[in-house]
Amino acid sequence: MMANLGHIIYPVLLICAFFGIIVLAGVGCAYWALIIFDKRMRKCPHCHKIGGGDVTESAMIGSKNYMDFKHQPPIRVTVKTYEEHYRCQHCGHTWIKTAEETVRNLVKL
Ligand SMILES: [Zn+2]
Repeated sequence: MMANLGHIIYPVLLICAFFGIIVLAGVGCAYWALIIFDKRMRKCPHCHKIGGGDVTESAMIGSKNYMDFKHQPPIRVTVKTYEEHYRCQHCGHTWIKTAEETVRNLVKL
């Protein structure tokens, strides 16, 4: 009885391990891509060091609301504008970047 069970469990475990490795590799790749993307976003415009910039200050400088009637049902769109202050760890250069965040909400009637 135990031997039969073993014959079933081991292939199942192998398949699970195989898929587990694929999932981990996928998550790892996504994480790695995110780090690369983040480093590129923080590239210093002065010494061109990738990932050199650190955010020293971040402030919301504006936000606007409008209704998107092209979408049915209409959605409320909020666009927030942020100003991010960067400072390079390598050469001390400082620069400002603006970023926008768009939030779409379904209007509750
Ligand atoms: Zn720099």
